[in-house]
Amino acid sequence: MRTQRSHTLLLYLIAALVLASFLFVFLTRPKLPQGSKTGAESGAEHEEYTVPTKYENIQVKTVEERSDDGRYLLHASWPVSEHDGINADLDNFASDFISEFKNTSADIKQAREEYIQETGTDGATFHASYNLHFDVSFANENYVAFTFTIYRNTGNTGTEEIITVLYNRQTGERIPLSRLFANENYLETLSELSREDIYQRMAESVEPEQFSSEEQYTEWLNSLKANIINPGTEPTEENFHSLVIDAEGFLDIHFDRYQVAPGAWGVVTVQIPLSKVKHLFTDEVRELFELSPEPETPVEPPPTSQLPNPESANCATQKCIALTFDDGPSVYTDSLLATLQSRGAKATFFVLGITARVQQQTLLNLARANMEIGNHTWDHKDLTKLSLEEVRSQIDRTGDLVETITGTRPVLVRPPYGATNDATAIAVNQPVILWNIDPEDWKYHDSEHVAKHVIANARRNAIILAHDIHETTVAAIPEIIDTLTQEGYVFVTVSELLGSENLVAGRVYR
Ligand code: ZN
Repeated sequence: MRTQRSHTLLLYLIAALVLASFLFVFLTRPKLPQGSKTGAESGAEHEEYTVPTKYENIQVKTVEERSDDGRYLLHASWPVSEHDGINADLDNFASDFISEFKNTSADIKQAREEYIQETGTDGATFHASYNLHFDVSFANENYVAFTFTIYRNTGNTGTEEIITVLYNRQTGERIPLSRLFANENYLETLSELSREDIYQRMAESVEPEQFSSEEQYTEWLNSLKANIINPGTEPTEENFHSLVIDAEGFLDIHFDRYQVAPGAWGVVTVQIPLSKVKHLFTDEVRELFELSPEPETPVEPPPTSQLPNPESANCATQKCIALTFDDGPSVYTDSLLATLQSRGAKATFFVLGITARVQQQTLLNLARANMEIGNHTWDHKDLTKLSLEEVRSQIDRTGDLVETITGTRPVLVRPPYGATNDATAIAVNQPVILWNIDPEDWKYHDSEHVAKHVIANARRNAIILAHDIHETTVAAIPEIIDTLTQEGYVFVTVSELLGSENLVAGRVYR
């Protein structure tokens, strides 16, 4: 029974992989901006940060789904550009992924129920976790390329795919990989070069002494070649669905997890010097990538920086309350900021590194408007399911990014799903902030519900959980602020509410 089920799931996965692999790639590798790190204590000392031009006009849409029992989790982010045609195509791509998650979850849920009936156990291993993330890999006036990382986990092992899509920014057309090459044998060349590289790395990954004889070693290597490396590198467009021209002068070929190596290798990247493959590209592509990098155009400081810094509230004497927004920044965050500023309200934004990297301008706008920026990890994994080393890296990566862009390192951490335990909190080693008012905006997607719930439950020194990835939540904020302000509340940041002097690293504030 279980085997049949997993076959069905496997078919779903294979279908999804095939569906996804017709998408293509091309681009320069995402680079973390290097900025001044001297202003850690105060944003004022921070050198003016310039947002890389590739992020201009790109924002983020995010959908998050989770079942009440936390077994079925989805976190999907994808780009919004200035071109409606590109956006429609990306929306379709994302909605296919979301439907696949829903179908898979429904299947697993049913399989779990049957399994529990048959065995009388709790079916603890049945779950599904899906993630879709992206970065802008390349952008100029005429082209934009996005690299998606797609993660699916429906059991003990996860699959990870990397897909790159390239668009013509003027027409909105998606450009298939094959059109970037002039040489019709380009796939054969890429296949040969990839095999050479992977054979060598595979051979070097073991000591021949681990085998009892040289014949055994050769046999092992040959079987890997025949069963996994060669099929995964056959010269087909599907196998070469993620190609990136990186800033170091290599063509990076990404192969999905399991495609060309055992799962423990994860995503395999083969780097080929451009000098070896340059002749394969069209003239236009060659021109494009021989261009010296465009000078970065400085971004105008937003008008928000002109506003006077409102005096800090005194929560010992005033009726303070803290609005917090998780999972952003998103396409709705700038309008939320305008709502807050027009009402003189402050809030705390627990941002994800992976989306803050794209909406750097929004992050700057928040910081300049004296909103507090907290750390919501890099890509929204449940921290209690990660190694302590992975927890640290989730926090540090986002902390480094926010500090580079705004000059100030976030002090507060909010773990995804509010999931934390003693070991996690110690690994985080910063104050862990939960909440005590939760309108469950992610579940209802209803402005009226959000406003009513928050207003009805408001009390002094409360921390409100909301998400600026939902348009309906952002639409509820004016009513919440206006009503509660009339009731005498002052909207402050979490650090103001708790008092910076009371914040202790590794402690959980509920
Ligand atoms: Zn979250």
